[in-house]
Amino acid sequence: MDCPGCSVEMAALEGDELSLHKCTECGGLWLDVADLNRLLLHHNLPGLETLGGKLNAEALTGVCHECKVDLVSVDGGERNHPLHYDTCESCGGIFLESEFKDTTDHKAAVHEMIEFFRRFSGRKVKKAGAAG
Ligand SMILES: [Zn+2]
Ligand SMILES: [Zn+2]
Repeated sequence: MDCPGCSVEMAALEGDELSLHKCTECGGLWLDVADLNRLLLHHNLPGLETLGGKLNAEALTGVCHECKVDLVSVDGGERNHPLHYDTCESCGGIFLESEFKDTTDHKAAVHEMIEFFRRFSGRKVKKAGAAG
């Protein structure tokens, strides 16, 4: 898999939870929508299609090098902290840009992605043991 943004070969982040690729240029992450949904559900978040977010047809996106089609951008997050991810409508690949520069291993990447989609959905982070 080549990075949709930089067109350089992405490195595989080894792990048993899902198949994940990271761009060494921009820090972007690429994964499959089925893997992402499994991950979200595992962490008590709704699946991607129920997370909310709005298709942004105007946004400039990269290209899925597998399918040779433009990615579409999905906007979400809070008003003062907008977030977006890109997705390939052909293969269901998900591309998360550059928020993950410091992410060097699979475990850290999974943690970062969960935080990203939690914020994306506008959900507050629940503190362990808190009432309600
Ligand atoms: Zn890149
Ligand atoms: Zn694709």
